[in-house]
Amino acid sequence: MKRIIIAIDGYSSSGKSTMARQLASRIGYRYIDSGAMYRAVTLYAIEHGMITDAGVADVAAIEKELPGLAIDFAVQPDGSQHTLLCGRDVETEIRQLYVSNHVSTIAAIPAVRHALVKMQQKLGEGKGIVMDGRDIGTTVFPDAELKIFVDASAQTRAQRRFSELMSKGDAVTYEEVLANVVHRDHIDETRAESPLRRADDAVSLDNSTMTKEEQDAWLLEQYNRVANV
Ligand code: C5P
Repeated sequence: MKRIIIAIDGYSSSGKSTMARQLASRIGYRYIDSGAMYRAVTLYAIEHGMITDAGVADVAAIEKELPGLAIDFAVQPDGSQHTLLCGRDVETEIRQLYVSNHVSTIAAIPAVRHALVKMQQKLGEGKGIVMDGRDIGTTVFPDAELKIFVDASAQTRAQRRFSELMSKGDAVTYEEVLANVVHRDHIDETRAESPLRRADDAVSLDNSTMTKEEQDAWLLEQYNRVANV
């Protein structure tokens, strides 16, 4: 089997992280959730008063802090990964709605993107990696051997995210989650710096009506097709 880079891009809450993580564990590759890195920078900005509740970011202050922000992933005993921000486990905080509400604004700052894209490219140097995000196939790894673009309706994606947050006991409404999903999609698609779009050579997947098992099987088939040459 050829050791390759697998780039999985798509809209928020499209289920791409779950399928990316599952494939990586199945084939023994490293999985990187690039969205978690943008979420970690966002958490830092919120905690240090660098973004207002209304979403106005102090770009100069964030730029100044970027070189000192160490972002890492720690593998847990059950195989899951937790995001570390300067050594602190921030996995719970970065998934909260107050971070989701600001992450696309922070992710649209060019200096933030440049710094994180560089880190992501370094992580992929040895190949054998599955990375998911918005610009992995277009900007981070334009030469990735396998690129997937995942989509599903905004309502389907919001329902999935809502169920996930509810099961964690978060007090949110479906309407709030849907508004966040639509808002993030809009910022991600219209930003000047590496906007969310399908790479020309990406394989599309609309998983609105697929079960998790069907998705996993489909993705494994894509991997075998490309790596088994
Ligand atoms: O994947 P997730 O929904 O956790 O990503 C959070 C946000 O981070 C996205 O809405 C997007 O604004 C940003 N992001 C990005 N580029 C990536 C990954 C995430 O701009 N490669």
